[in-house]
Amino acid sequence: MTGATATQTLAPTAAIHTPHRIVVVGGGAGGLELVTRLGDTFGRRGKADVALIEKARTHLWKPLLHEVAAGSMDVGRHELDYLAQAHWHGFRFRFGEMIGLDRARRLVHLAANFDDDGRVITPVRSFGYDTLVIAIGSVSNDFGTPGVKEHAICLDTPDQAQRFNRRLVNACLRAHTQAEPVRPGQLHVAIIGAGATGTELSAELHRTVRAVVAYGLDKIDPDKDIKITLIEAGDRIVPALPKRLSEATTRLLNELGVEIRVGARVTEVTSDGVRLASGDFIPSELVVWSAGIRGPDVLNDFDGLEVSHASQLVVRPTLQATRDDNVFALGDCAYLLPKGETRPIPPRAQAAHQQASHLFTQIGRRLAGQPIAPFRYRDFGSLVSLGEFSTIGNLMGFLAGRGLFIEGYFARLMYRSLYKMHETALHGPLKVGLDTIARFMTRRTEPHVKLH
Ligand SMILES: Cc1cc2nc3c(=O)[nH]c(=O)nc-3n(C[C@H](O)[C@H](O)[C@H](O)COP(=O)(O)OP(=O)(O)OC[C@H]3O[C@@H](n4cnc5c(N)ncnc54)[C@H](O)[C@@H]3O)c2cc1C
Repeated sequence: MTGATATQTLAPTAAIHTPHRIVVVGGGAGGLELVTRLGDTFGRRGKADVALIEKARTHLWKPLLHEVAAGSMDVGRHELDYLAQAHWHGFRFRFGEMIGLDRARRLVHLAANFDDDGRVITPVRSFGYDTLVIAIGSVSNDFGTPGVKEHAICLDTPDQAQRFNRRLVNACLRAHTQAEPVRPGQLHVAIIGAGATGTELSAELHRTVRAVVAYGLDKIDPDKDIKITLIEAGDRIVPALPKRLSEATTRLLNELGVEIRVGARVTEVTSDGVRLASGDFIPSELVVWSAGIRGPDVLNDFDGLEVSHASQLVVRPTLQATRDDNVFALGDCAYLLPKGETRPIPPRAQAAHQQASHLFTQIGRRLAGQPIAPFRYRDFGSLVSLGEFSTIGNLMGFLAGRGLFIEGYFARLMYRSLYKMHETALHGPLKVGLDTIARFMTRRTEPHVKLH
């Protein structure tokens, strides 16, 4: 296997290289599955030169971030080192953030990386490609709402989720040790956006904050002092689910004591709360913003490629960019409007997973000089995990023949199976089976929330 060549040594040329250079940018839910399979099948055997460009050093499956934020998941136990994964699976890991593209010379440009003391770790570099797959996910869309950047936390990365968790535990410690009684608004959490992320976080937080307090912070009365408010501009929570599922979820959250404000548009986030268009002010010590996503900024000026209104790369049914056959996109950063549909494929892990599987086969066909087939999305339904309280969702499509409402243990199993599918794509079934048993056993001797 030869490495994707850096410009320092690459004569700029648009000729196809031998072996074919496949570069995947973004090792997330979709990208890491794809590059692992490409490395195993083509990289190892020298049939292609496979590389992953990624700005983080480790991978954590993004749908776990609300559990990290709530403190019910230890990142260290679930994160995966890209360098090791690349070594085991026949691809190269190129550490760095993609900052631009040169389509004529088929080069991806990367920013430099610096350590905490400002010393360069990796310099500005460029890598050549013959087939490029953009899989860089999404970032939270604050729609320009004042105060979000300064005072709210988004759950886009493990760092942000951990930062929220530290603030939460610190808030509990502060309230426990202060001389005066807990102030109104102190220990209140406002979650803006009641899609799956915000809704799941509200249920998970309800449980973990109580668990933290139960470790001896007895000056705090959870029922009196802690308040979680879920704020949604639309007329119901989890709008991606059918209405009756959203009603069932509302009922469950109400039973837990989570306050739900629907039809409530946020106009400003301040250091001590959230202002609504109605004029109401919701005092909150902690604010989470989870009200929609958009493509990362780098796509807005991506060497002339077409982007959607939400900064995603517009792709054809083959997942190729509308203006370049050599550039593909998958997952949250791709905008694909299937023929005859009015809504694009949703930004979900199951879509990224299906697109990764599809592209793996189609890139194989491309290497063999065969035509590539269009992608067809199968919606298996949506599931919302309400922590240990319940999981609610609907199974759709050919799995159940038609929409089927599921709840409870079976729904929880289905929810967990999405993550197991991801882990299996990365490690194979044997390792995942052994890991699952090991995690189950060690969990019994650990605190069930993160306390630092
Ligand atoms: C809290 C939460 C809960 C969720 N729950 C569910 C769920 O239950 N079911 C579901 O289907 N979906 C869920 N989602 C959505 C799901 O996480 C995303 O749809 C999915 O992760 C998208 O996969 P992706 O591969 O497109 O991007 P990601 O998984 O986000 O990966 C993108 C990768 O690209 C890297 N990257 C970004 N920019 C650059 C750059 N410029 N250069 C190099 N690398 C870059 C990032 O570091 C990251 O590793 C949830 C999301 C959140 C936040």
